[in-house]
Formats: sequence, structure tokens, C-alpha cells
Amino acid sequence: MAENVKVAVRVRPFNEREKNRKAKCIVKMSKKSTELLDPGNLNSEPKRFAFDYSYWSHDGFKVRNDGYCEPADKNYVDQEKIFSDLGQVLLDNAWLGYNCCLFAYGQTGSGKSYSVFGYGQNKGIVPVACERLFDRISEKRANADKSREEEYQVFVSMLEIYNEQIRDLLNPNSFKLKGGLKVRLHASKGFYVESLKTFPVKSYNDINSRINEGTRNRTIASTNMNATSSRAHTIVTINFVQKGKNDAGQNMTKTSIINLVDLAGSERVDSTGATGDRLKEGAAINLSLTSLGNVIKSLADVGAGKKGVMIPYRDSKLTMLLKNALGGNSKTIMIAAISPADINYDETLSTLRYANRAKSIKTKAIVNESPTEKLIRELKEENARLMKQLEGKGGIGETQGEVTMQGVPEEEVEEMKKELEEQLRQNEEEMNAMKKSWEQRLKEVQTAQEEELEKERKKREDMKVTPHFWNLNEDPALTGMIIHFVKPGVTKIGSNKAASVPDILLNGLNIQPEHGVVSNRNNVVSIKPCLPAKILVNGKALTEKMELHHNDRVMYGSKHLYVFHHPQDLAKNPDKEKKEESPTYNSAQEEIVANSGFDMTKGSDKSQDDLLLQQELVELMPHVNEANAMSDELKKRIRFEIVLISPQSQGLSHGRTQVSVVMKNLSNENEFVWDRNKFLNRKYLMEEMYQDFVNGDKDWDVDQNKDPFWEPPETEVLVGVVHIFLQSLSYLIEIEEFLGIVDYRGGQQGLLKVDIVPCTQNGDLLPEEDFVDDPKELLNRAVNFKISIAHARGLPSRIKKSFCKYQTYLDKKPRKTKAIEGTRNPDYKYEAIVSSKIVTEKLLSYLENETLVIYVWGTQNDVAVENAGGAGLVAQRKAAFLSNAGWNEDERSKMMIELNTERKRVARLEKKLKRVQDFVTTETEVGRLNAEKLNIILKSGYKFKAVAMVVAAAEKTKQAAKNGKKTTSKACSLS
Ligand code: ADP
Ligand code: MG
Repeated sequence: MAENVKVAVRVRPFNEREKNRKAKCIVKMSKKSTELLDPGNLNSEPKRFAFDYSYWSHDGFKVRNDGYCEPADKNYVDQEKIFSDLGQVLLDNAWLGYNCCLFAYGQTGSGKSYSVFGYGQNKGIVPVACERLFDRISEKRANADKSREEEYQVFVSMLEIYNEQIRDLLNPNSFKLKGGLKVRLHASKGFYVESLKTFPVKSYNDINSRINEGTRNRTIASTNMNATSSRAHTIVTINFVQKGKNDAGQNMTKTSIINLVDLAGSERVDSTGATGDRLKEGAAINLSLTSLGNVIKSLADVGAGKKGVMIPYRDSKLTMLLKNALGGNSKTIMIAAISPADINYDETLSTLRYANRAKSIKTKAIVNESPTEKLIRELKEENARLMKQLEGKGGIGETQGEVTMQGVPEEEVEEMKKELEEQLRQNEEEMNAMKKSWEQRLKEVQTAQEEELEKERKKREDMKVTPHFWNLNEDPALTGMIIHFVKPGVTKIGSNKAASVPDILLNGLNIQPEHGVVSNRNNVVSIKPCLPAKILVNGKALTEKMELHHNDRVMYGSKHLYVFHHPQDLAKNPDKEKKEESPTYNSAQEEIVANSGFDMTKGSDKSQDDLLLQQELVELMPHVNEANAMSDELKKRIRFEIVLISPQSQGLSHGRTQVSVVMKNLSNENEFVWDRNKFLNRKYLMEEMYQDFVNGDKDWDVDQNKDPFWEPPETEVLVGVVHIFLQSLSYLIEIEEFLGIVDYRGGQQGLLKVDIVPCTQNGDLLPEEDFVDDPKELLNRAVNFKISIAHARGLPSRIKKSFCKYQTYLDKKPRKTKAIEGTRNPDYKYEAIVSSKIVTEKLLSYLENETLVIYVWGTQNDVAVENAGGAGLVAQRKAAFLSNAGWNEDERSKMMIELNTERKRVARLEKKLKRVQDFVTTETEVGRLNAEKLNIILKSGYKFKAVAMVVAAAEKTKQAAKNGKKTTSKACSLS
């Protein structure tokens, strides 16, 4: 009978970061409804959804001594409740012989792994289900009726889909396979993964240790291969087989396949930016997740009664493997994990909509039970049929094949043959397995598994007494999975390229063959880098030998982050563990960011925006460092730096400072600003390229137009902006400025000559005395202004072509000057008249309060800079560094121009100021000035008011420039 997929939604507590920045909870739940508030408009109607289960795990709990989170009020839903609602049903169905599937959907950090696998004492559905499964098996065995020959068999496999490649997590050798494992189609069983290892397990400990092994392999792979674990889908498959005689004495086999799926983070990497990028990475990044969305949508359409819908299962690996779970023979549950925090509104809404759609999917589960004889017979028949097919394709018989397969390309025939042969092999194996006794199968893996368990137990013991490193990963599920011991004597750290195999073997970015040495003498442990190898201890670069203490943070290269655990040091100082919280990935990254020059102090003086900015920095910095390390190793001559871009430097009057990345091409000194999303997308492609390079793929380097490290010089870049206060115009006083073109760093990139002069309709000057005492006098009059952009001076030498762009309140479209090429001092000779037949209140307010922003855009020269590589590269970096500090010739001359203009400007301002002062002085001398009078001067339309306002405006400009500098930029990165 068809039934709907069950959908549960669960909201997690705030994490440390969210608490720090006092995030607001925008999720509300009642028994069956989940509400989401729009943080931008808290008074608007919340979005409402109804699910089979709504789980409130946000607050109302207390942490038990052993770490278990138990309810403190009746609303809180703990792991036990989740299991009894969802896990138990899953198990019951498995016992009945149904296939089951549980999948967890949600953005990274929303709590998918917490529900599926769990952390520590807060065990998730998978471990509890395994535990209960074996409990019940023991029970059944104990009470078994001997004559029925009952037998229970459990098998486990674990795989990961990363970037459309399948890796067998229980077989690390499969990681080396280019393109990953293949998905094949079996005539009766559907899609399966070729040569995926499936292990028989006989106890909870067995299965638990397998899952741990898989997770450890995942951790090592993601660190060594420099991959982002949140982009992988993990599938644990438990195959549960029950055998025994039925009432009629017939041998029966009942099977259930349980798929437990922890999906990749659902966040849309392209949600805000990067959409305009030449490389459309966003689309390819998680093909599997996109396809899953499409499949769910189509299935939901079918569920709603739509006819003739094609379900695109074949679009991705994930959807092929989940075909049964989604639309076929399976009882399926989906958990949608959501964040409670205001800033995650968009993602949470999208998750809820996704889950809502999944509700209407229908599956049709059947009990998979057949007489064993029949199963064997079917397999035999199928194999006979396969053999025949294979003969037909020229696989086994010869001549006949050529006739039937005429016209089909040879590779395709080959591929089909392989597929058939693989199916034959699989069936053969399955038949053998059916004939083999369970004991036999267990025995085959038992000794190895027993040794493994013993090793694991010993390791736990060792950890209590031996100093060791444990790993930190951005994914908490992969944290603490890798342990490296520091035994008495010398422990060498290095890569697989070292002359002799190092004791601690690390691979991947920035790891030298001989990277460092840790020595342990009488439990005094010290560490020394093999320079120039990069080691950071507590965020600082290590240059010489240093003693390590309990809970010190150590980063090897750019990706391997560890915490040092020192039992003896801890014993001397037992308070230490309590006083200092155990380091986390986040705190360790914060410390690295702080050490590279960014302000990471917390405190009440920090605004929400500041804290958010800090968080974004902490998230982006490791990626920037990794991108630089990849660029170095691939000799791409590209440098990435984090920049904080103030809204002003983008010509905006309000908004948040953005964390972005400047990409610098050291070969031609081009610079491009990439927003965070574009950078992350590009980095993903860099990782792919890097992996090919590491694998020794000859074709790792792709065409320039597909190269994530490349940006064409023709790409237009914003050289800088000029802000012009328009207030003078409201008094019909002209503006004549030679203003700094300010870039995202708050630095000047040259000067722009801009005049805005009130004029007649034809552009003739107004008579000198025609300014107004009170801007209100302009209301309902006609005004005309002539805007001239004469020239720019001292643009950066990397700029090839430049032009200016602006849009006044009166313009429907932006206006542009012509583009001038080949000079640092372009003469735009631009003039335009902006007119309004009638001055409205709005226009007046614009003139009085707003600034006109002129954007200077340009393209860059593609002139190779000399000295590629080696010492030349170092010299060039130095030059680049010096130029950032404003110290090369070019910069110096620019600064001189700037200084001179500034002097002139100040002189002019002083002249104007003097006029006001003179006036005030004369008035005072004749005894006519008092506070009241001053007020009148400022408020009434006294003739000099205009001038006073101009002075005030100029002050404001200066002030703004000062403030602007403070909030703008700081560029920094590690090398
Ligand atoms: P995901 O797998 O979706 O990326 P995780 O399950 O790893 O997210 O959760 C992120 C963090 O939030 C983890 O540190 C986890 O312990 C915590 N967390 C998630 N859900 C809960 C919950 N219901 N109760 C307590 N902590 C939770
Ligand atoms: Mg996870």
C-alpha cells in the first residue's frame, strides 16, 4: 500500500557564536505546527508549516553529569524521544522485512549529524538502532525454537558521495580510484555501487567500530585531500537478513535494507553573489543535492496526482542510490534540521519548504520475504539470462555478437559487457553467500575485526597516560577522530615523500616531507619545525624549539589542526581542564585570525555587526590560507587576501561591512575583488584541480577559461569612488573639487576633478550674486547644473582603460564618461547638464542631504611582470607588500600630488572660513553679535549662512573621510 514519507522537523539550541552575538530565535513550534518569523519584519504574519513531527530542541533542557541533554521542561525533545518516535518505527519495519530509509536534510551546522549519529552520550538514531537491533537478536536467539533453524545476519557498508564521486569509507583504497566507484543497475535489485565492501557484523561493538572507522577515514581524506566535509553525503547501509523455517517447514529468507543518509549541507553557496561569475561553479557543486530536490519535486507532483511526470533519478549518484527509498519499495522518514537563529532565516525557510514538499511523496513498501530456494533459483535463472546477453554482445560467444551489435560504438559494447559481467559476479557471490553458513562468513572477517577492536581498546587506554595530539575539524562530527601519540624519544612529522616514513604521517597542503620534530623527554614535550615548514602554535608561527603544554593548539601546514593533550601536565594542574574550556575549531581559528592582525576582541563595545564580521573572518581565513597554499604549490602566482569592504567604499550610504577576498595576479599585478561566495565557489574548483595535481593527473591544469585561479584582465574593476556633498548646490553655490578616488581599502587611487556649477538651461553661468539665502527659495523654480568631469590624475599604473559612472537623483539611467586608455592621467573632458523644470521637496532634500557618488571603473593591463618564480617571486611579493604600505616610488609621487591638492583645498576652505570670521568680527566690533544673533545667522536666511553651511559641509566631508578610513579596510593574510 502506498504511504507518505514521514517528515519531522527539529530545531537545535543556539551555538556559542549565536549566544555571543545575542541572536534572536525566529522559530516557534506547537504540537504540529512550525512557525518561522521574518527577522526583517517581526510584526508580519509568520510562515506556517505542518509536519508529522515538530521537535523543539532549542531550550528547556539541562545537561546531565555524563553530558546527556535531558528535558528540564515538557517542551524539550531529547534524543530518546527522537529514537522512540522515528528510530523504533524504523527498526520495527526492518524486523517485518521492509526496506527503510532515514535521511537528514538541512544547512551545515543545523543538527543533521546530531540526530542521525549523535555526539558522545547524546547518541543519535543510528547507534541506538544498532544497539537495539542486536539486543533483540540476542533475545530472539536465547528463546529460539531450535527446529526452525532461525538465523539473523547483519551487514554494514558506508559510503560518501563527494563531488559526484563515490568513496567506500570502509575501504580507503577506493579513494585513489579516479572518478570514484561506479553506480550500476541491477535488473532486479536496482542501482548499486560496484565493489562496495559490505562487512558482516555480529554485535553492536562491531558495527560501532565500523562506523567509527568510516568516520576516521572520512576525516583523514577530507584533511589530506583538502576537501570540505560539509559538501559530502554519507550513507550507512545496514542489510538485515532473517532466515528460518516457516510453519510449513520451508526455508525462508526475509531481508531489509536500511539506508541512513546524512546529506550534505543544503546551503546554497550561490545565494547572494557569484551569480555573475564566469565559472558557474554553484550549479555543479552539489549536483546530487540539486537533483535530490528535483526528484522530490517531481515525486511530490506525482503524489499530487499529476500524470506523465518523468522522475530524474539518473541525474546524480545520490538519486540513483536513493531511488527505492524515495519512490519505491521503502518506508521512508525525513528529518529536516533547522537553525533557530535570525541570520539563517533564508536557509531555514528554504529547508522548511523542501520538507513541506517531501511530505507528499508516496512510497510503496513490500515485505521482502521469499523461500530461500526460490531466491537461489531466481539468481540462477537471472545468471543464465545474463550469460546469454553477454554472448549476444560478443563477450563469450563470438561471431553472433558482431551481427547483433552492429552500429553500436565499441566502447559502449565494452561498457555493457563489463556491466553484465559485474552483475554475474555479484549474483554468483550472493548465491555463494546464501550457501555459506553465517558462521563461515563471520569467521572470514572476525580475526581482523577482533584485532581492530583490541587495538581500539588499547588506544583508549594509552590516551589516558601518553601525551598525544587530537584533531580539530570544522565539522564537529570529524573532530577528535584522529589521534597521534608522542612516545618517549623523538617523533618525526612529515609527508609520504620523506626519506624514511615519519611517525606522524600528514599529507596535503603545505606539508613538507620533513615537517617537524616532537621530542618527549621525561614527559617534557617540545616541538621544533624543520624550516621553512609551517607550524603554528597557539596561532603564532613557530621558528624554533618550544615546549608544549596541555591544550596547546598546533597547526601543521594549512589544514592539519590539532590540540595537544598532556596527561602529566594536566595532573600537575588539575584545575586547568575546568578553568579553560577545551579548545574548539572555532576558538583555534579565532586565535589564528587575531594573530594575523585583525581585531578579534569581544566585549560589550562590540556591535552585533562587528561580531558577525569577526565570525565571517574566522570562517573565511582558513580558506584563504588554503587557497594561497594551493596557488603556491601549483605555481599559479596568485595571491589571495582578505579585505573588509565598507559600504562607503562601494558608494553605498548604509549597509554592513563585507568580508571579501582580493585576488592578486602576481604575473601582471592585476587585482580583483571577489565576494565571499565567488571566492568559496572558486576555491572548491581549486581543490578539485589540486587533487588532480596530487594524484599525478597529467591533465590537472585546465584551459585558462576554466581555471579557477584565472580572471581575465578585461574584467572591469572598480578603481574607487568619489563622494561629493551636494549641499552647496541647494544654495546655488558651485562645487569645484579635486577629490581623492577612494578604493575599498580606504586608500587613494588618484584624484578626480569634478565641477558642478549651477547654470542656465544652455549651460551658461549664473550671475555671481545669484545664490539663495534659504534653499526653500528654490522650491518650484527650475534648476540646471553643469556636471564636468575633466580628468583624473595619478591612477594606479595597473589600470589600462578607465571611465567614470554616476547617476543623480534626476537620472533614470547611469551616465558614463568615455573610456580613456593608456594613461595614468586620463582626460575625460566630460560635460553634461542635469536639469529639473521644477524643484520638489524631494529634490531639495536630495541636494541638502545626499552625496553624489562617482564610480571610477577600469580594466587592467596584462603586462607580464618580470622575474617569475624563485628569488624573483620573493622580491615581487616584497614589492607588493611595500606598495601596500605606501612606500614605492609610484605611491610616493601619488601621495605628493595628493598632499598638494589637499593643501590647496584647505587654503580655499580657510579663505571661505575667513569670510565668515571677518563678518563675525565686524559684527562683534560694532557690538552687534551675541548668541541670539549667531543663531539668526545660522537659522535665518542671513546672507553668509550659505558660506557657513559650505564650511560645515566641508567639515562633514573631512569627518566622513576620517570615519570612512576607520571602518575600511585592513588587508592581511598568512603566507
Ligand atoms: P550538521 O551535521 O547539520 O552540520 P551537527 O549535527 O554537527 O550539524 O550540529 C552542529 C552543532 O550543533 C554540533 O556541535 C551539535 O552538537 C550541535 N547540535 C545540533 N543539534 C543539537 C541538539 N538538538 N541539541 C544540542 N546540540 C545540538
Ligand atoms: Mg554533519
